[in-house]
Order: sequence, then structure tokens, then C-alpha cells
Amino acid sequence: MSLVPFDDRDGWIWLDGQFVAWREAKVHVLTHGLHYSSAVFEGERMYGGEIYKLTEHTERLFKSAEILDFEIPFTVAEIDQACKDTCAKNGLTDAYVRPIAWRGSEMIGVSAQDTKIHVAVAVWEWPSYFSPAEKAKGIRMCWAKYKRPSPETEPVHAKATGLYMICTISKHAAEKEGYTDAMMLDYRGYVAESTGSNVFFVKDGVLHTPTPDCFLNGITRQSVIALAKAKGFEVVERHIKPEELAGFTECFVVGTAAEVTPVSQIGEYNFTPGNISLSLMDDYAKMVRRELQPA
Ligand code: PMP
Repeated sequence: MSLVPFDDRDGWIWLDGQFVAWREAKVHVLTHGLHYSSAVFEGERMYGGEIYKLTEHTERLFKSAEILDFEIPFTVAEIDQACKDTCAKNGLTDAYVRPIAWRGSEMIGVSAQDTKIHVAVAVWEWPSYFSPAEKAKGIRMCWAKYKRPSPETEPVHAKATGLYMICTISKHAAEKEGYTDAMMLDYRGYVAESTGSNVFFVKDGVLHTPTPDCFLNGITRQSVIALAKAKGFEVVERHIKPEELAGFTECFVVGTAAEVTPVSQIGEYNFTPGNISLSLMDDYAKMVRRELQPA
């Protein structure tokens, strides 16, 4: 893994409508977004010169900002263009794309009505979240200590930085014990999602996936459901209890970064990456590269 710090690289970052040299794209320590998590972001991937579902991601960024009660001072089309231009400016055709919007420094306190809203787009090379070897044999996960909160507790449908606090803590705990990631339950005790991806299970040729009523209904999740249905699979969205995992044969996680990654273990439950996971993994890889018609 590259350990070149993210603030010390060559290239260009789009910041508030202009390109700035990578190392100069700075914020002040007294930034509201840093102190109070008033920040929303996206994670996208460009494959062979095209950002997969770009506008859906940009629209989600705007929706997340609206949920956090701020307005991004650009249009969706302008941010779409900024994402494309930032890839081009950095000479990348295969890249991870990270737009972020946050409240600035005009006010530091819980009330932040008069803060300026900033937006940045950074892009970098990021081949695969998990190594190909890890993908083929499936990743090992433990149970996370934290639970996804109720929609009455947090703005769960925003891709907001604050919601990742429990993800980083849970992922670090998993890594310390030799696991790749952690699976989170929700506030009711149902299986929810991993620290950065949605989850699917397979039983008797049918796909089962948790209802996204207290976590992100991922863009990859929606693509994989459409892909699976187009291949003739039944997909059941429902609440899944952890003890039901004993009855599932395959499991995989999906997300922009994770793509489709088979899972071999979640805590006390084991799975064998099989035909369904592996064929959806291949189909997704082809679809994002436009080698397969989108479902
Ligand atoms: N859940 C969480 C917590 C995530 O961070 C992500 C990645 N954005 C996802 C699910 C999957 O979302 P998407 O497929 O839109 O990337």
C-alpha cells in the first residue's frame, strides 16, 4: 500500500470552482466541517474515461447537503463537470473520485448559519479496495461493536462524514484482530451493512439483502439488484436477523470502492464464494467498463 500522504502529492484539486495545486488545497484548523462534522462527500470511480453513475452520485451529494441543512453553491451539472475535469487535469482515465462539501470558518459553534459552503473534488489512482487474491477467496469479517443508528437518531440517508465515526472505530478493531472488515447490525439488531459497503446473501439460488431503512441505499447495491434481476435471479429485500446467516451459502459486499467482493466469514458464520457471487462480480466489472449493457 502506498504511504505517500494524501496532502503531499503532485496534481490538481478542484476547490470552489478553480484548480489549485494539490499541496495548496488546504483548509484552516478552525473549519466548521472539522469541528462539527458539517460535511458530506461522495466516492465514485472512473473506468476507462467514464465515471460510473456520475450524476446519481452528484445528486446524492446535493441531497446529503440538503439533509445537513446546507446548500451547495454550484449546480449538479457544474459538479459533474468538475469531476470529469479533475480526472482530465490529472491525466487519469481510471480513478477514484472524491467530491466533498463542508461548512467553512466564518462561525465556530453549533449554530453555523452564516458559514460559507466549500466544495472540492480530488481524484487519485485506486485499483481495487481489496486485493484480487482476497476477492477470490472471500474476505473475513467480524461483527462490529457499534450499531447503525435509527433514522430518529442520525440523518442516516446522508453520506455525511459524522456517520463514519463508528465505521472507522469498527474497522480498526476488525483489522487489529486480523479481519478485513466488520459487519454492522442496526439499532434493532438486524444485519445492516459493512463499514463501507452493502451486503447480499444467497440461499437456494435466491438473493437476500437488508432493507436500507437506516443506512445508505448504495448506488452499487441498486446496480447489483438490477443486474441480478436481469440475469433472472429473485432478489428479496427484507430485515435479516444475524442467526439467519447460518442458512446462507454465499455472501458478498458491494460498494463503489469494494465493487463486488465475496465474503468467506462473518463472525461465527462461514460462506463459500460460489457461482452467483463470482458471476455478479464479473458482470459488475464488465458493466462499469461498458463491456456489458447496464441492467
Ligand atoms: N454503505 C456505506 C457505509 C458506504 O460508505 C458505502 C460507500 N459509499 C456504501 C454503503 C455503498 O454505497 P455506493 O454503492 O453508493 O458506493
